[in-house]
Amino acid sequence: MPGPIPKRSDQRRFSLPCPHCESKQPLVWDNLTWPEDEPEKAAYRCIDCGVLIEEHHKTAMLERGEWVAGHPGREIVGFHINALYTPIGLGKTWADHAKRYIEVKTDPIRLKVFTNTVLGECFEDETEKLDWEELKERVEQYGLRTIPVGCLFLTAGVDVQKDRVEIQIRGFGEGGQRWVIDWHYIAGDPTREDIWEALDKYLDHSIVNQFGISLRLAAVAIDSGYLTQEVYNFCRMRRHRNIYAVKGMHSFTQQLLRRPTKQEFKRNGATIKSGAEVYQVSSTTAKQHLFARLASDRKQPPQHRLEHFSHDLADDYFRQLTSEVFDPNKRLYVKLKDRHNEALDTCNYAEAIAYHPVVRVHTMREADWQRLRNVIEPKGKQQGDLFHMEQTTEVPPQQPPHEPPQAVATPSRTERNAWIPQRKDWIKK
Ligand SMILES: [Zn+2]
Repeated sequence: MPGPIPKRSDQRRFSLPCPHCESKQPLVWDNLTWPEDEPEKAAYRCIDCGVLIEEHHKTAMLERGEWVAGHPGREIVGFHINALYTPIGLGKTWADHAKRYIEVKTDPIRLKVFTNTVLGECFEDETEKLDWEELKERVEQYGLRTIPVGCLFLTAGVDVQKDRVEIQIRGFGEGGQRWVIDWHYIAGDPTREDIWEALDKYLDHSIVNQFGISLRLAAVAIDSGYLTQEVYNFCRMRRHRNIYAVKGMHSFTQQLLRRPTKQEFKRNGATIKSGAEVYQVSSTTAKQHLFARLASDRKQPPQHRLEHFSHDLADDYFRQLTSEVFDPNKRLYVKLKDRHNEALDTCNYAEAIAYHPVVRVHTMREADWQRLRNVIEPKGKQQGDLFHMEQTTEVPPQQPPHEPPQAVATPSRTERNAWIPQRKDWIKK
């Protein structure tokens, strides 16, 4: 039962070595086998030596797997993978699929669904086709440093470069919605103190939404790859503002943001062991998520898209966001020639820091969003287009803030919502 494969592509399949005879082969459904009525004993029959391969071998086999093109040289890169490859512990097992197959095999409609979803998961490399001009066409009518309705909190990602510091502010809403709220840089040499003062001031800004509520940044991630000690120093003194040092890792992990590691901190000639904390961001996973979202937005009308772009964004933003493509052999993203990628990095840092325990965007449920909406977008308070008129780089006009209804911001009883009280700090007093 081969799954459908895009006909024009080079049709790559992931080839794994048999642990018994080393013969490399893609995993196909027809070679999964089990004794009658014992699907829990499902195993894979090697296409060459015929010896049964038990599923526990899969971890080692996947590590040594490689993509092999069925039609090398074709212009479109196409990958075919199926559920048999799912790493152990990350989803359904071979036995699960065998059981399911027995359940559905006599029902043609359910069998088709099984075949398509479990066995025929095929896709063309979406990043290959993401070009910056297509993304630019998706801009929406809102200005940078304004907050569209539905955007309920903000984070920022910061990248330190030799001649500037770049910052991206990302807005979050229910249902996985994200907005680019600002893309900004502070020019100058970051070994100088004044750059850090300017960064501090920028990160302390708040932006007023259309309901007259001022939003501060809920959390900030600063890349510590360059000028590491300066970044540690800056973040150490600003933990109370949820400003954290991060480091991008080229790894495939389920978690976007991993627990912090303790690092040596040096200041004024003194060394403090474990004096700094650094969070690891899985850059590969972050890019995978973002590109999948951008690809799925392709067919959506603006109101249903997940990623929203302001019409103020320069062309360069879109060039940078699409500056990397996936290399399936290296299993990581590589930068295209002559392209900058800071917009992509800062976007991913801003996304990842929303997974920090002080925010936990990934565990927010409908009720959590509603509670937040009651505070950030109070009913009957919409200010219309008042704040859309101001399009300056200055701090938005300070509106006397409405005191948030305290009942809404009180701690929730579940531990998962323990961050809710901290949300009060995002609203400028
Ligand atoms: Zn074999």
